[in-house]
Amino acid sequence: MINRRQLLASSAAVAAATSMPRAFAATYDLVIKGGRVIDPSLGLDAVRDVAIARGKIAAVAENIAGDAADTIDAHGKIVTAGLIDIHVHAGRSKDGPPMLLQDGVTGWVDAGSGGADNIDHVAAIARGAPQIGRALVNIARTGVTSGGELMDINAANVDLARGAVLRNRDIVVGIKARLSNNVAGTNDLEALRRAQAVAEPLGIPVMIHIGQSYSPLRAILPLLKRGDIVTHMYAPAPNGILDDNGRLIADVAAARRRGVLFDFGNGVLDHFNWDSIERATKQGFWPDTFSTDWNTQSRTTGVVDFPNIMSKFLMLGMPLAQAVACATVNAARVFPAFDDRGTLNVGAPADVAILELREGAFEFLDNYKGTRTGHQRLFPIASVFAGKRTPPRA
Ligand SMILES: [Zn+2]
Repeated sequence: MINRRQLLASSAAVAAATSMPRAFAATYDLVIKGGRVIDPSLGLDAVRDVAIARGKIAAVAENIAGDAADTIDAHGKIVTAGLIDIHVHAGRSKDGPPMLLQDGVTGWVDAGSGGADNIDHVAAIARGAPQIGRALVNIARTGVTSGGELMDINAANVDLARGAVLRNRDIVVGIKARLSNNVAGTNDLEALRRAQAVAEPLGIPVMIHIGQSYSPLRAILPLLKRGDIVTHMYAPAPNGILDDNGRLIADVAAARRRGVLFDFGNGVLDHFNWDSIERATKQGFWPDTFSTDWNTQSRTTGVVDFPNIMSKFLMLGMPLAQAVACATVNAARVFPAFDDRGTLNVGAPADVAILELREGAFEFLDNYKGTRTGHQRLFPIASVFAGKRTPPRA
């Protein structure tokens, strides 16, 4: 197969050979000029150009010379690796993934929309996505249901869930179990054991959704292995990460020490309030990763978009570079599918988010109609996936 660069090169050769005016043969396919490049994987926070060729990062340097087929003027903007959102529900409809790409999200994981009965539909959406889409299989064969997919423990069928993983190995990267009382009732621990019975032999992680569960975290967390993920980490009581006095419970700190990962998971209902998040972060308990729990309705809820979630943590006092890390390299490290992403290192796939950090008064929402006003908000400006720029959001 001949690619576009080879084509350009050969047309240039023809032009030279026939003494015609020289055809345009660019050094780079795209150069993003003059943005503030923040890449925690490289320890970089400086004004740089980012050059892209053949879908990869070709150079990150000051004033890159050499002509480009296309340029983006990023002066006054922030340039990061493409954002990776590890808890979304973008696999429900084919409209979701293009919307996420406009928000700067170049990689996503659908977290349990589908179980054994319907994961093939989610996987098909992921395969057709304009960026990297992956999925967690819900341990309940129905996937997420409004009545609570684990109320009948027979829905958590290990053989069916294993089959669902094995026939979608290109897309499925883990297992999801929602453990809240209104999802699992008294079945939370047994559902998690069954999730591990699928995940452990396959060497893939389990993501659990915590908060308002029947069992306390001191019973739940020991069932997690290194690399497993706790989402909705700041879910209020009962059975959140804080004790009755608002102190981080020892089991949570111990779980983090042995490699269990903690993910924000904004969502809409019951997943965090300002009090729980402020108490936990004041004790130094920050997320490893952000995530939105996004769906196609999210632009009109407290989620809005991934940069909005990043902005909530800026308001809470997280340094910008750390917020970028939670949205890029940290997320890339959770799943091997994102191994070479979340970075602008030379040679990496050219997935880039261009954001704008605006100053002003911005209102942010928790899941209980609580508002806080921050003075900075990141906005998505443009996205590049595998070297190709995406039309901006209308
Ligand atoms: Zn979710």
